[in-house]
Amino acid sequence: MATIFLHEKTFEGADGLEPTDVIREVISVQACLPILNLGMEWYESWKTIVVVPDVFIEEHTEVDSAGVAHEWQEDNSGESWDAGPVVLSWKDVEESGWGDGYNVVIHEAAHRLDLLDGEVNGRPALHEGMSPREWLEVFSRAFEDLSRRAAAKKRRLRMDPYAATDDGEFFAVASEYFFEQPEVLQSEYPDVYRLLCAFYRQDPARRRERET
Ligand SMILES: [Zn+2]
Repeated sequence: MATIFLHEKTFEGADGLEPTDVIREVISVQACLPILNLGMEWYESWKTIVVVPDVFIEEHTEVDSAGVAHEWQEDNSGESWDAGPVVLSWKDVEESGWGDGYNVVIHEAAHRLDLLDGEVNGRPALHEGMSPREWLEVFSRAFEDLSRRAAAKKRRLRMDPYAATDDGEFFAVASEYFFEQPEVLQSEYPDVYRLLCAFYRQDPARRRERET
């Protein structure tokens, strides 16, 4: 599957980075994990991957109700533009895939799958027999719980609080844990884990059990 991905998708470098074979292969293998049992057609609209050396700075400007412009910068390790290329920081790709719950390739791939029905909102197009209402309830409950705990900062969270940004980020970060640390997601939010099993048609925790 990764070989097909490698041949079908265009890899571009930016900011002085030239994508080597290793870079292209490492990204392809990880990008294919979420669609292993879905099929390559789920990535049909995703044509291009742009690889940059390091986190890129995103410039934001917002004018508030008093007419004052606020500017701020945000570090970004990956970005999925609507139907455009996926931009990945190679430094963050190198930090992905080590089983610690962080995986920028899976994160951006999850956004692409989420985007397929037109919006990145944490609610991808579900398979037949899956209930969109149950998905919404389960994910909203988990999102609210994580947001509350992230805001309280009382105890160390087992999941990256970045997931509490919005519904879309929650789905992407939950997907990272689903593949990287399935037992963490399973114990924190068992219903989210169960629905992701149904969506991705995989059970990484069980797969890991069998391996050990
Ligand atoms: Zn994201």
